[in-house]
Amino acid sequence: MSANAGVDNVTHGLAGLLVADAAGHWLEHRKVPVTPRIRRALSVLGIVAAEFPDSDLVYSGPVLDMGPLGYLLHHRGHTHTIVWAVASALLLWWVARRWVGGSGRLVSRALLVVALVGTLSHLLLDFTNSYGVHPFWPFDGRWYYGDAVFIVEPWLWLVAIPALFWNRPSSVGKVLLPLFYLLILAAVWFLGQVARDVAVVLLVFAATWPLVQRMLGGVQRTASGMLTWGLVTALFFVASSRAEATVRAAASSAAGVGASQVLDVVLNPGPGDWGCWSALVMSRDSERYRVTSAFVAPFGAVRSLEVCSARYQQGRIGSDVLAGLAGRADPLFVPTASVVWRSSWSAPLADLPTLARVRCEVHAALYFMRTPVWQRVSPAQLLLSDARFGIGGSGFSDVVVPTNGVCSFPNGWIPGWVPPRTDLLDASLRGDSAALGLGGTTTSNSPTVGSSGRGRRGRRQGTGIPRAVVRAPVWSGPA
Ligand SMILES: [Zn+2]
Repeated sequence: MSANAGVDNVTHGLAGLLVADAAGHWLEHRKVPVTPRIRRALSVLGIVAAEFPDSDLVYSGPVLDMGPLGYLLHHRGHTHTIVWAVASALLLWWVARRWVGGSGRLVSRALLVVALVGTLSHLLLDFTNSYGVHPFWPFDGRWYYGDAVFIVEPWLWLVAIPALFWNRPSSVGKVLLPLFYLLILAAVWFLGQVARDVAVVLLVFAATWPLVQRMLGGVQRTASGMLTWGLVTALFFVASSRAEATVRAAASSAAGVGASQVLDVVLNPGPGDWGCWSALVMSRDSERYRVTSAFVAPFGAVRSLEVCSARYQQGRIGSDVLAGLAGRADPLFVPTASVVWRSSWSAPLADLPTLARVRCEVHAALYFMRTPVWQRVSPAQLLLSDARFGIGGSGFSDVVVPTNGVCSFPNGWIPGWVPPRTDLLDASLRGDSAALGLGGTTTSNSPTVGSSGRGRRGRRQGTGIPRAVVRAPVWSGPA
């Protein structure tokens, strides 16, 4: 679980059930009898709607015949947009209404709200981690990254399940929910991903929260479940914001000397842990693009860097993804009281735009990759990876790039997201291939895509990259 791949599907389902319960309470408040059939319809619709955007998994794999690019470009693709969320919610609403039959206007309205909030909740939850979403496509193709919540966040499971359990008359819910509760507790204690002190706090909460929930009424359970869920998430966002400010300040003062520029920071908390964060810092100076991994203790007085770093060094969480590529800290980056720098990888500034120009695989991957790093793995092949998800072996973002040959997939499969690293690709439009040591011409001759705009937390992004690269010359630059 070192890489943050997205919000897990149990969490999405729990969110959908909370929304369904809230709709049931609203119907009861309006004096509408909530029959077992209506209750079941609300619950099933809540779960299906909350999971529905992940239906892109059906086609984003081998069907597209693009290798790993099919998944990278099309999972969290078109189905993870507000336009799709609203359209699919209307479809699910129609199906649910037919299932329930003529139960009246208020039931129909409750089903519509559950369908809409369910699908939209998926986008919101997926936004919370470092994988990101581009919800406003086709009006705005930029990626937005929350950088705040871990892939399987135990707090969210522990908060939601007791709030749902006591409100469930059905035997399926009464069995499945405790199973998930025990599953997450076992994972917290035995998988070694959660620090022992955090695990103890989680276990104490897990023992008391169900008792509190049992004493509450139905409406209070749902309300307290939703509010506590929101509070947990808000605290992670506050901590993320502080961790980002901490690591940016350390990076610019350590590596800067006025020349280096911090482009972006990817952040992931430890599971259940607001106090320890792993970071990938992307920076550039006048010559090189650099990715540096670090861990950060944004609340050093409460949870010290020593505690965090001890856990990281035990390899419990946040393994150093760049270690295999670089293996040592860049001397430019000096540790501070809150930041420890780990491995650093760098390449000449011109290399990424050059690769994007001459290799269609790189060009395509950059519509997804936020933290591109690459290495030569053989005389005829490079391995391009997104360092957010590990490199080589377990890294699902690895793309093998032949250094010559013809592109093997149609350019039409490339979706219209704005490439996250346009801030590095601007150089491709300024340079020419001879100056970049290619000694040949490229065939990128179509209009550019992408646009300038504002990313997460107000970062300014640059212009786009060449649209079509079909025939590629040999790329002979550094690896
Ligand atoms: Zn998703």
